[in-house]
Parts: sequence; C-alpha cells; structure tokens
Amino acid sequence: MKLRLRDRDKLRTKFIELDTQKCQACWKCLAGCKNNVIGKVDIIIHKHALIKNPENCTGCLKCVKACEFGAYSKKGAQRGIN
Ligand code: SF4
Ligand code: SF4
Repeated sequence: MKLRLRDRDKLRTKFIELDTQKCQACWKCLAGCKNNVIGKVDIIIHKHALIKNPENCTGCLKCVKACEFGAYSKKGAQRGIN
C-alpha cells in the first residue's frame, strides 16, 4: 500500500531515513536523540519508532549508530548519494 505524504514525513528528516520494517522497538534511538526528533508507535501488536519532529534534526547521526538493526540510514546513502 502506498504511504500518504503525511505518513512518509514520519520516516525521514533532512538528514536521515527510517525503515520501520527493520525496527525491533528497543527504543535505543529515542534515548540517543537529544533533540526530541524521534517518537514511537507503542500499541500491543504494533510497535516501532517514527519521526515526530523532523525539523529538529541536526544530522548528528546518533540514531544511525544507536540502532543495531540498521533501521536508520544517512539520507541518500542507500541510493549512493552522500
Ligand atoms: S534503535 Fe532501531 S530497533 Fe530500536 S527503536 Fe530505534 S529504530 Fe527501532
Ligand atoms: S540525526 Fe541526530 S538529531 Fe537527527 S534524528 Fe538522529 S539522533 Fe536525532
């Protein structure tokens, strides 16, 4: 199913992208991001991180380093744009 524009905004900032399919809901990225960019969906059968304040992202990449499941990537990295 195609994501609506509003939903796609919850998966990226200017600097990073989040693949919610890889998220294991460990919440380490929330603890790592000091800028309150990352939020969570936390209901019984549906749990994952999401981007709630993309405008606050400074591109520090702590979320990329914090996630051992590879859910975050530097924007453009998967397409070879750096
Ligand atoms: S660190 Fe990775 S696996 Fe853990 S909540 Fe964040 S995105 Fe999900
Ligand atoms: S790059 Fe830094 S500021 Fe942006 S979401 Fe990740 S940890 Fe937060």
